[in-house]
Order: sequence, then C-alpha cells, then structure tokens
Amino acid sequence: MPGAVDVLATWEAGTTAGAAERTLLLHALARPRAGVADLKATAVGQRDAELFALRGALFGDRMEVVVGCPDCGEKLEFELGVRALLGDRAHQIPDGPGSSERDGSSELDGSSDPHAPQVLHVDEGSWSVDFHSPTAADLEAVSGIGDADAARKALLARIVIRAERSGRKIDASRIPAPVQQAIASAAAVADPAADVRLAMQCPECSQKISAELDISEYLWRELDVWARAILSDIHLLASCYGWSEDQILALSPQRRRYYVERCVDG
Ligand SMILES: [Zn+2]
Repeated sequence: MPGAVDVLATWEAGTTAGAAERTLLLHALARPRAGVADLKATAVGQRDAELFALRGALFGDRMEVVVGCPDCGEKLEFELGVRALLGDRAHQIPDGPGSSERDGSSELDGSSDPHAPQVLHVDEGSWSVDFHSPTAADLEAVSGIGDADAARKALLARIVIRAERSGRKIDASRIPAPVQQAIASAAAVADPAADVRLAMQCPECSQKISAELDISEYLWRELDVWARAILSDIHLLASCYGWSEDQILALSPQRRRYYVERCVDG
C-alpha cells in the first residue's frame, strides 16, 4: 500500500493536470514499479480494477456515491462495496486502513497477472476478427477526435489485430456495424471493470437511471479532500510542536489524530 508521502506527491503532481494525466498518476500509485508505457498498455478495465483496489487500500471498502436523477434532479445517495464491485479481483485488495508505511511497495503488484490485454476473437457471420481490449493509450489516441463515428473507426483500427471475411484479409475500417457490436460485447465481457454502471430507479419520479462510476474521478476527489486535510494537520502540528513535514507524515494516522486533538484542545 502506498504511504502518505507517495499519495501526497501524487496529489501535488495532479493538481495542475488534466483528467487523463490524473488517471495515469493514480494508476502509477497503484502499480509503483511499472513504467508509463506499461501503464498505458493496460486494458482500461484492468486499470480501473487496479484503481478500485487502490481506493479500497487507501480509504476502505465502503464507497458513498451520489447520483443526480437526470429527470427530476433528485439526489440519490447510496453505498457500494469495492470488494463486491471487483468480484474475484477483490483478493488484490490488502486489508487495513491507510497507514504511513513508506517502503513504496504495493500489494497490488504481487500477482503474476501480466496486465497486458489478452488477444480476443469473434466470429460473426462470415467475419473472423482478432483484437485486444482498448488500453489507456488507445483511448488517449482517439480522445481528440470530435466525430463519434470517426473516433470509433480510429479505435477499431488500433485494437483490431486481424480481420477476415470468408478467409480474406480485410481492412479494419470496413468492419460492418454488427461485427463492431460483437467486438464491443466481447471486449466488455473480457474486461468487465471498463464500464462500471450503476442501475437504479429514482424514488421520486420512478425514472430508470444508469450512471457510469468513473473510479478515477471519484478517487481523485477523495484524494483532494484527504490531501488538504493532511496539509492542515501538518501546519497545525508544525506550529504546535516544531516537527518537520517528514516527521509528521511518518506518524501513523492514529497518532497524528491524537496530537492534532491535543493541539486543538490546547
Ligand atoms: Zn427522478
């Protein structure tokens, strides 16, 4: 599990970054020994599963989510469990609350999972296609394309490894819609955490709501609140006891809380 120093450094680097860069920073925190190229070559669902696991390690299993009803504006609040969301990937989440260990090691990195997206295959009518699940690099490459149709074609060109119709090789740009659909479905099955959707019904207006849970955005907001609180604690304890930032960050959260309370109480 990353220590307070590493988490704070991630927050500092991300304060001036855009959403994609923040996601990459959080992913690097989840898998500290991986290089940027490896992180970007990870299937987005696998990456998001690692971000959910990081969230569980830093802030615990329970997530509170607020979704606004698009119809009547009612705010729906509910709780989710990281383990329940991750299913059989949950074993990657180490137990225990956040602490200030500073060895930089990560329990998330302990599996033999090669992280790289596997080669997938669909047969649809006379078509036969090999492809891989979209990675962070794939999504980044097409993110600037405004036209949805052009973006889908560009993504297809990146993820398709081989496309054949009746045994003849065909360019990925000529794959018809039903085959594209089959590719999307197979990718979703292989990489389920890529699109975590929350399905619910509004208690006010009965509208059915399907909301996407963006774990990167969610975790960033939590990290921001945590970082600002810990910087306040550092300010208070440094003023009160004359300790350095390093010394204060090396304290366990429990001890830090205790000394903060003593300072506040006088
Ligand atoms: Zn509603």
